[in-house]
Amino acid sequence: MLKVHCLVLASLCYGALAMPVPETDPGISSTDQDFAQQYLKNFYPSTARGKNTFQERLEEMQKFFRMKVTGKLDTDTMNMMKTPRCGMPDVAAFTTFNGRPRWQTASITYRIINYTPDLPPNVVDDAIQRALNVWSQVTPLRFNKVTTGDADILIQFNPRGHGDQSPFDGPNGVLAHAYAPGPRIGGDAHFDEDERWTNNRAGFNLFLVAAHEFGHSLGLNHSDDPQALMFPTYRYVNTNNFRLSQDDVNGIQSLYGRRRK
Ligand SMILES: [Zn+2]
Ligand SMILES: [Zn+2]
Repeated sequence: MLKVHCLVLASLCYGALAMPVPETDPGISSTDQDFAQQYLKNFYPSTARGKNTFQERLEEMQKFFRMKVTGKLDTDTMNMMKTPRCGMPDVAAFTTFNGRPRWQTASITYRIINYTPDLPPNVVDDAIQRALNVWSQVTPLRFNKVTTGDADILIQFNPRGHGDQSPFDGPNGVLAHAYAPGPRIGGDAHFDEDERWTNNRAGFNLFLVAAHEFGHSLGLNHSDDPQALMFPTYRYVNTNNFRLSQDDVNGIQSLYGRRRK
């Protein structure tokens, strides 16, 4: 299942599908049109429903974000495309990956391979642990930190190309990505070191982005519910007493069940 997922990622990064010239507002520059083409290729890869033309993908994107579905590249759509976000493609409602990959054990290991220089290591440790707790609070899952050897979820901070098929893109744009449960790279979470990682509302809050990415690490794909943690774009919310949306809870419990009392 993981293999399928990686192939999708690979093809959307390197695919050179020609899309017909889109209908656009006069105010949209050709640079923005190119940006939009790439955005739709990356986040709305062709689906079983056969959404392949620029307009079809654009309509799917507008539907996902609950915008007016015009099939036309207007300023509102362009602004949404420029909003910093996760690097994984978008689908709908809460969703799991094809084949519903999940961890077969409730005891999952994680290891922080390297630290961002943006924050003291103990602050990174704390943000990662709190991000995992978000998911263990509503499931039977337990997370155990290891400092050497392999682990289910390997966590790292890198800029640009970093050894998988999905290089990061510099500041803003894609912030991070993570792989569905499985062996080797499965479950791993990668953070774009070109972002400024924080533990407050400045830059990008590491706890919030990590909690979202770990949703992928555990088997959730994106949700089109704007209140869901698994919504693809970044939105700062108060991180004190952070709680998952009901949609996120439904999603993760569909894979692992409820927390045992
Ligand atoms: Zn995501
Ligand atoms: Zn990566």
